[in-house]
Amino acid sequence: MPKAIVIGAGVIGSSIALELIRNGFEVEVVDKASGAGQGSTSASSAVVRFNYSTYDSVALAWEAFHCWKNWQQHLNVNLASYARLYDVGVIMLDAPVISTERTTSLFEQVGVAYEVWSAEDLKSKASYLDGGKYWPPKPVTSDEFFEDAQSNLGAIFTPQGGYVDDPQLAAENLAAAAAALGATFRFKAEIQAVLKDGDRVTGVELNNGEKLFSDVVVNAAGPWSAKINQLAGVGKDFTIEVRPMRQEVHQVDTPLGLLPGPIVGDVDLGIYMRPTPNGALLIGGTEPECDPLEWVDDPDSVNMVRTAERFEAQVTRAARRLPALQIPNTPLGIVGVYDVSSDWTPIYDKTSLAGFFVAIGTSGNQFKNAPVVGQLMAKLIGEVRDGRDHDSDPVIFKGAHTGNEINLGAFSRKREYNSENTHSVMG
Ligand SMILES: Cc1cc2nc3c(=O)[nH]c(=O)nc-3n(C[C@H](O)[C@H](O)[C@H](O)COP(=O)(O)OP(=O)(O)OC[C@H]3O[C@@H](n4cnc5c(N)ncnc54)[C@H](O)[C@@H]3O)c2cc1C
Repeated sequence: MPKAIVIGAGVIGSSIALELIRNGFEVEVVDKASGAGQGSTSASSAVVRFNYSTYDSVALAWEAFHCWKNWQQHLNVNLASYARLYDVGVIMLDAPVISTERTTSLFEQVGVAYEVWSAEDLKSKASYLDGGKYWPPKPVTSDEFFEDAQSNLGAIFTPQGGYVDDPQLAAENLAAAAAALGATFRFKAEIQAVLKDGDRVTGVELNNGEKLFSDVVVNAAGPWSAKINQLAGVGKDFTIEVRPMRQEVHQVDTPLGLLPGPIVGDVDLGIYMRPTPNGALLIGGTEPECDPLEWVDDPDSVNMVRTAERFEAQVTRAARRLPALQIPNTPLGIVGVYDVSSDWTPIYDKTSLAGFFVAIGTSGNQFKNAPVVGQLMAKLIGEVRDGRDHDSDPVIFKGAHTGNEINLGAFSRKREYNSENTHSVMG
């Protein structure tokens, strides 16, 4: 039986572990944290939406939605508690960088149900929102931020989509399903070297000096993925780079009567808003150009304390869109780290080191896809090991729920830069 080592027990690594063991591998997962999902997964807003700029990305998100919807069947194991999809729908407000025509055409091709809302529709269907167009986003410390709206926005509404609560439990569920089939998990074990024999990977070395040997190693190390690639000596043939970026997501109470409202994607003001099961609202940012991007060199040295500036920026924007919002005196929220790729699209691929695969660059928007990422990585790994040249003849993945075909070349490390996707947009 071939052996695979998965580096990282986040939602992506745990899903890969589950699907590799389902596909006949002996699987060992190594994580330096003390349990599954304790890395960037634990900070995720876990938004499940379908608004992406390419067919393959929309098809991937739509297929994964069905896995969340049928989560217990997906896991196929009895557990004490399961993560849950809150299928509340998504309102994506208009913005010049989002083409309604392109989005709706992709939704048609993939089979995602949608409604195009005019400004009047938005007003009647989501009367709690201020529908003003304020584009482009401005610093909340500037006078321009408070200028009146130029006109009113419409939106694209998908009645399906929502969020998963909670993301760490989702990773734990995947890890438990993999463990039930025999995968082993080693926690509090840090990988300090990737072992090779010529141009083939042979395993990993832990920080206690112990060596683990395998036929396949998968880098699913989230924001630490660039470090692991360095250890493996891969990256020279990549056209896409990955880099960690600090993020804050804030939490506020919502005025009564707004819940369970759909998620609101608001690129016009530079935020997204997501309800929580207990009646609060999470507010995240969409990296508007007017705000500094917080690139970090080392995910382990990130300031994990919320800052007053980011809280004020995101919550003031939310209050503009949601006039009834009460801004709390005490900031609540979390700090997390994205593993951002140059075009905000993940890399799911092999590398120049035979047997060494990557599921990285998840760019703050791949939690939703994790259940399918495990499946597509297992297929890719299987076909590459069988001799397929994925670089010249990309593996095609067919979704079990939707029947849609996804060209995995779209997630190649050597792809052409997707210039239409220079922003994460939201979750
Ligand atoms: C604030 C925030 C909000 C987000 N919101 C959304 C959203 O709304 N929707 C969405 O779809 N996505 C969202 N995302 C993105 C999503 O959460 C991530 O894409 C996903 O969780 C990444 O999972 P992962 O398993 O790749 O990484 P991680 O969960 O970070 O797991 C990587 C693991 O690797 C381990 N590791 C690293 N280095 C080593 C080493 N040397 N040795 C051993 N172990 C190691 C770490 O301990 C960690 O557990 C968000 C992310 C953040 C940070």
